[in-house]
Amino acid sequence: MENKERLSSKTIHSAEQLLESFSRCTKNGFVAYNLQGEITYFSKIMEDLTGWHEAEMLGKQVAQLYTMLPGERLVDTDDGQQVVAQAASLNTRDGKKINFPTRHTPIKQSEESSDIDGYLTLFFAQNNDVDRAQSEFVSTVSHELRTPITSIKGFASTLLFHSQGLDEEKKTKYIKIIKDQAERLSRLVEDLLAVSRLESNKLQLTIHPIDIDQIIEDIITMIQSKYNDSHKVNLDIANNLVPIWSDSDRLEQILTNLIDNAFKYSPEGDKIDIKIYPEKHNEEDMIRVDITDYGIGIEQEDLNKIFKKFSRLDNPLTRKTEGTGLGLFITKSLVDLLHGELEAQSSKGEKTTFSIFFPTHSFDIESET
Ligand code: ADP
Repeated sequence: MENKERLSSKTIHSAEQLLESFSRCTKNGFVAYNLQGEITYFSKIMEDLTGWHEAEMLGKQVAQLYTMLPGERLVDTDDGQQVVAQAASLNTRDGKKINFPTRHTPIKQSEESSDIDGYLTLFFAQNNDVDRAQSEFVSTVSHELRTPITSIKGFASTLLFHSQGLDEEKKTKYIKIIKDQAERLSRLVEDLLAVSRLESNKLQLTIHPIDIDQIIEDIITMIQSKYNDSHKVNLDIANNLVPIWSDSDRLEQILTNLIDNAFKYSPEGDKIDIKIYPEKHNEEDMIRVDITDYGIGIEQEDLNKIFKKFSRLDNPLTRKTEGTGLGLFITKSLVDLLHGELEAQSSKGEKTTFSIFFPTHSFDIESET
């Protein structure tokens, strides 16, 4: 107290100022609320953790933001007090629930008083990035698996228990749905395995020279037949192309994913242009492949989202088409691994071009992964 009196009034910082400065120095988030349960403080880090803005949260009921999970325990603090340690499930703006370890303590009217004004919850985000990414991943995968499984279970039960009341046409229809959903599950599992192999660097690659003009037509024919020749493909290959250096299977996977998307995200009867030509890129001689469709297109601000795991843009055609949202993540990771580059350009409702740059010289994969 005496020491405090020695301070000139100019040097006394308000609690608010200190809290603001402190919350900038930590990766942990804070929320305070009053006895009515209304949020009175929502730190900057909470905005990053949840996607909610402070202005949206102040005055909101704290129960809308998070719920405490069972298993509370008391933890001693250095000054002989106790705070509650408990995990909480935080509701993010995009509808996810993320669990965080928390500390929870009353806010007293003054240091001496035992009257409580509200509570402060601290969310430990410090070392939680990996946990958070993992729990988000598990929650998204579970969600993606649930839809086909529910459908398979439902139609299989109908066939098993109510088959007498079904005519042959209905039975065949239900069996086809089961088959399609099982294929969807298997695609998802294949994609997840590819992601896991990519992330743990366990992909076996054999780099050798490949004449891309020799393989592209087979890939196009395969996709044409999958979509019953729904699109016209114009292939324009420059003369005297040098071979690219790549891994055959992965190269096929990259081209298949991008051409398949061009079919999926543009209407039947449309054309798709594929152009292959040499180009200097970042001062290196590379082979460039442009795959252009004239379909739904992608908003400028969404172009950086599409390469993220499980990202599917919300539009009627995406809703109608099958997909895991993993294709472009896998494609981009493969292109990076193979010393190439992948770029996307789009004008909404006009055209979308994915450009891949492939190296024309040998490289050592081991030293890079
Ligand atoms: P999937 O096709 O399985 O959903 P991708 O990772 O291949 O996943 O693509 C992610 C999202 O990017 C798609 O869901 C779609 O919204 C968008 N997208 C990809 N390619 C195109 C394209 N050629 N035109 C328009 N949107 C596209």
